[in-house]
Amino acid sequence: MMSDDQLCAIKGVLSSIKEKSPFYNKKYEGVDLSKICTKEDFETLPFTDKWELRDAYPLGLQAVPDEKIVRIHSSSGTTGTPIVIPYTAKDVEDWALMFERCYRLAGVSDKDRVQITPGYGLWTAGIGFQAGAEKRGAMVIPMGPGNTDKQIQMMLDLKSTVLCATSSYALLLAEEITRRGLNGQIHLERALIGSERWGEKMRKRIANELGVKLYDIYGLTEIYGPGIGISCDYESGIHYWDDFLYFEIINPETGEVLPDGETGELVITTLRKEGAPLIRYRTHDLTRIIPGKCSCGCSYPRIDILVGRTDDMVKVKGVNIFPGQIDEVLKEVDGVSSEYQVMIDHLNGKDIMTIFFETDCDKSQLENIELKVRNHFKERVGVTVVPKAVSIGDLPRSEKKSNRIFDNRY
Ligand code: ZN
Repeated sequence: MMSDDQLCAIKGVLSSIKEKSPFYNKKYEGVDLSKICTKEDFETLPFTDKWELRDAYPLGLQAVPDEKIVRIHSSSGTTGTPIVIPYTAKDVEDWALMFERCYRLAGVSDKDRVQITPGYGLWTAGIGFQAGAEKRGAMVIPMGPGNTDKQIQMMLDLKSTVLCATSSYALLLAEEITRRGLNGQIHLERALIGSERWGEKMRKRIANELGVKLYDIYGLTEIYGPGIGISCDYESGIHYWDDFLYFEIINPETGEVLPDGETGELVITTLRKEGAPLIRYRTHDLTRIIPGKCSCGCSYPRIDILVGRTDDMVKVKGVNIFPGQIDEVLKEVDGVSSEYQVMIDHLNGKDIMTIFFETDCDKSQLENIELKVRNHFKERVGVTVVPKAVSIGDLPRSEKKSNRIFDNRY
């Protein structure tokens, strides 16, 4: 759905974008943007994709004069040239404002003590969590990543009540706190977890071991950073700030816009961004817009928890598999932990998908549990896999976004 306010905001953005942004001036060459008057007209505009942003390195996306830029952030660039996003003072302020809404929706108040473990620097995570928490009036403990001993020490001494982390680092902390028998001594009440896709089992372990309520934060560097949406107490999707952003869901293969409720790729248009506005930006995140109002009473619309990324979508034996499905299947087998790794190989003309999963069950039961995973996967996904049970702690934990699927075929 596009509201009248959103259509009006989009027309406003389009009316001056060619003049302001050399990037869009070139991209929309020959397109008469003054003729874009309806949602349907808007949907004829070409998408903006990640590779174009890389090609614009370093500052090709900048849409205001130098003197208006106050900061840059950049994507990690692990897969090639990084993407650099310039921010104006208003962009920085707007981002903090959105993030403050996230804390508010998660029930964080000015009495809370917020321990921030995501990284600082070019990456948008740490500083975004910090600016929002400060705007909320909470006490910020800006730890940054790693150094688990010190994290736990500060958590105990300063009586942190809110933990901000990636899911894998929250799990690592939870395991370490349990191992040291400190569960009764920590004061955490809530954890705000970065937008990685993560399974229900992992969620339960973190919630139980840390004794916290969990909230999923959504965001990406290209569109401000984390904090453009968050889940609420009802855990029924992620509320997003539709006065700053317009969300569409498309079929990733055809580009066709899908109706609310259907799963596809999330495409975002910024309505107020100055430094580097983006029109119809393909996030490659797979989700759906949840129709209807949330029981929490918050009137901001919702997307569902991410089921994966279009680039993690793997085709095995002709079947499309999303990482979210692997989580789902493993969650349904008793005795299987939330940690897993998948290897896909091609041998003798055949795809072979091996799933390593952690289990705490007895050695004599390993064969039995492997068989259960194999059968359940076949039944739910339609693909026969090679199951390999390993002990708890055998698979690598990561403080960064973890990639669990390794496709060795190409
Ligand atoms: Zn809600």
